[in-house]
Amino acid sequence: MEQGINDLIEISQYYGKQKDFVIAGGGNTSYKTEKHLWIKASGFSLATIDEAGFAKLDRSLLAEVNTKTYSENVLQREDEIKNDLLKSRVEPEKGQRPSVETSLHNLIDFAFVVHTHSTKVNGLMCSNQAAEKTAELFGDQVLYIAYDDPGYILFKVVEKAVLKYRAEKGKEPAVIFLQNHGVFVGANTITEVKAIYDELIAKLDAVYGEEPENEKLPVDKVADKIVPAIRMMVSGEGLKTVRLVNHTLLDNYLQSDNFPAVSAPFTPDGIVYANSSFIYMEYNDNEEEFLQAVSKEIEDYQQQKGKLPKVIFANGLGVLVIADHAEGAEILVDVVTDHCRIAQFAESFGGQHPMTQKQVEFIESWEVEQYRSKISLGA
Ligand SMILES: [Zn+2]
Repeated sequence: MEQGINDLIEISQYYGKQKDFVIAGGGNTSYKTEKHLWIKASGFSLATIDEAGFAKLDRSLLAEVNTKTYSENVLQREDEIKNDLLKSRVEPEKGQRPSVETSLHNLIDFAFVVHTHSTKVNGLMCSNQAAEKTAELFGDQVLYIAYDDPGYILFKVVEKAVLKYRAEKGKEPAVIFLQNHGVFVGANTITEVKAIYDELIAKLDAVYGEEPENEKLPVDKVADKIVPAIRMMVSGEGLKTVRLVNHTLLDNYLQSDNFPAVSAPFTPDGIVYANSSFIYMEYNDNEEEFLQAVSKEIEDYQQQKGKLPKVIFANGLGVLVIADHAEGAEILVDVVTDHCRIAQFAESFGGQHPMTQKQVEFIESWEVEQYRSKISLGA
């Protein structure tokens, strides 16, 4: 096996195992030579990835995506691109699906590209001072990209910015920050990738100061009745897992004055995992009253969104997560915790800047269409 692939596996697992950088299937890594690009295929986790998790792509075929004209219709266009990405596979028989972020990886002219949703970087990227503080803290070491809809549109925006950066600075941007999304780091060795990440985090830590210890809090005994009751409510179309958790960080955002800071999504990934809104409720030591209110809230949510809620902030009780299975519940707890940490870090940069309603709607309609097309294909 090529040493580059070994290094790619090592750096992928290194960041994949740290919740500060990657949660569940998030993040993306790649390695390239002149001719080929190896990139994490959909459905693999960086934490446990090995050679089988990387799709090998032909870079000359990938380059065609940059210049080709695609449909004006968003979904049709993304479909056309997906097909072109599939066509670029050197070993199509493996059935791997390269991510929509493949073109971005191919664009960045470094052997290794490590894309993560670093919580600390996102504390800045999801804040009100994302652009100006990036410039102030990092100068031209970091290329900052304002939010745009994910997929081809975002790729074109980044491509333009990278070309401009190259022309002006006479070098390749080693770090790209994406507002309300995350970070791309590129370097020719994995030692350099780590050094760059370490430097970024050190600079941010200097602003954030020491993060308060996050202590687990006991949940009320009444949870033994409430959790199964809610599980019954939501298990109409298949068994669900419901979990109630609390820790000092969540407890802070459970307070009605603080909840608005975490009530809207920060990133597209956040929406994919936890939906675009949480339910917020008060628990006033009356189990029956609470369960009636939850039932009503869930019904309203389903009516409005056409799907079940995944997260309920219940002040006085804790955070309830609703998932398909235990592992999914675990991931949701991580996602909500990450979301609250981003909100906390953003306080250092003028407060939270969540996604706008329009940006959220784009992700939601995209999700719905993808879901529909899956159903219609019987997949
Ligand atoms: Zn991403």
